[in-house]
Amino acid sequence: MHKDNQPLIFEMTKEGRIGYSLPELDVPEIDLSSLLPTEAVREVPAELPEVSELDIMRHYTALSKRNHGVDSGFYPLGSCTMKYNPKINEAVARFSGFANIHPLQDESTVQGAMELMYDLQEHLIEITGMDEVTLQPAAGAHGEWTALMMIRAYFEANGDLERTKVIVPDSAHGTNPASATVAGFETVTVKSDEHGLVDLEDLKRVVGRDTAALMLTNPNTLGLFEEHILEMAAIIHEVGGKLYYDGANLNAVMSKARPGDMGFDCVHLNLHKTFTGPHGGGGPGSGPVGVKKDLIPFLPKPVLIKTEDGYTFDYNRPQSIGRVKPFYGNFGINVRAYTYIRTMGPDGLKAVTEYAVLNANYMMRKLQPYFDLPYDRHCKHEFVLSGRRQKKLGVRTLDMAKRLLDFGYHPPTIYFPLNVEEGMMIEPTETESKETLDAFIDAMIQIAKEVEENPEIVQEAPHTTVIKRLDETKAARNPILRYTKA
Ligand SMILES: *Cc1c(COP(=O)(O)O)cnc(C)c1O
Repeated sequence: MHKDNQPLIFEMTKEGRIGYSLPELDVPEIDLSSLLPTEAVREVPAELPEVSELDIMRHYTALSKRNHGVDSGFYPLGSCTMKYNPKINEAVARFSGFANIHPLQDESTVQGAMELMYDLQEHLIEITGMDEVTLQPAAGAHGEWTALMMIRAYFEANGDLERTKVIVPDSAHGTNPASATVAGFETVTVKSDEHGLVDLEDLKRVVGRDTAALMLTNPNTLGLFEEHILEMAAIIHEVGGKLYYDGANLNAVMSKARPGDMGFDCVHLNLHKTFTGPHGGGGPGSGPVGVKKDLIPFLPKPVLIKTEDGYTFDYNRPQSIGRVKPFYGNFGINVRAYTYIRTMGPDGLKAVTEYAVLNANYMMRKLQPYFDLPYDRHCKHEFVLSGRRQKKLGVRTLDMAKRLLDFGYHPPTIYFPLNVEEGMMIEPTETESKETLDAFIDAMIQIAKEVEENPEIVQEAPHTTVIKRLDETKAARNPILRYTKA
């Protein structure tokens, strides 16, 4: 039994209790294990909890109340936008014509769904300034890898086999170097300058004949707009490399500036961040990739095209990198993103960008007197504070993050990006009201005062949650595996 009196589901078990009742079987019983290869059949039945339907409902409802989501409270998580997902998106995704179709149906019977995907691609082409978009990749990192594989195929097709290196800024999201490595490239790091932007001199030093691509996040992971993008594009293109735009968080750029106009050759978007697909807990996501003309032949196949006879999947793409996902992406998330884009309209999307930036700057300036602001300049949709002032008083950023739980807030991303000491990365998003922003600012100011006057209250936080401090790595290192070994 846990100290909060909520038993584990296994502790609630009563032998013979079941969660459903069905009429007696009136057809011959089949032994399913006879259909499986012998090595896959259990010798001892799995140890499963035996509980009634009502008890299991109450159990999970009780657990769900301890969870924190955007629908229950403010969630200013930097880097992975946690904005509100409008419920109309959910309603549309559940239309039976979208929810009850199967990807193996004949194309003639799913023309509406194909039209939606095609239209979504057209909108994303417009938003990014690219020439073509694929919806296949299932997440941001998957989009990164897909685009890098296309870049690789492009150079191989041109017989340009020396391009083994991908340049990544030191502030980049961890998926960037990981995707480059998985795509078979060597990662080269380029430093940030004292303003938190890519250091152009260092970039000039690391580029060369072996440069395949520069992966750039903009606004970068500090929430700052990379002001020298055109110079960077020139530096990379001059040596024959490609420019990759990590557009996971387009909140601060959408409808204002387009990667395609800045000289980028490819981009991925996270529809589950900027375009209000719900996310967390491992998916599903959607990471479409947009490309300029040069890379179109290498798009993953099939490619969704429009013909005189309607929409169809084109498999006749001899230079394609092949499939990167079964079927054509996570359709349900794409329906949500499409609904969002259509309900907002061009003016709405522009307002999203303006409010995302306004909210972040408002909060940054209100908090600036109480915390260190390592890069004191206009931010985009997020900003990074440093808790080094508080650290000198014996309170770590982790302690302050835990204290925020007592105020009912999900803490911001902490200790990231790595080039900020005791970092706190805060992204309010455009969907929050001024009252919510002010209440969070007040909580942060109170915590800053507690650090000076009564540090124990912060060091020992949280005080109001069911579970106090967790051992954050124990579950990963020592998982409890509830199965019976054969
Ligand atoms: C979230 C994020 C990613 C990775 O996206 P996933 O969908 O989690 O794979 C990549 N880059 C940046 C900048 C991100 O914020």
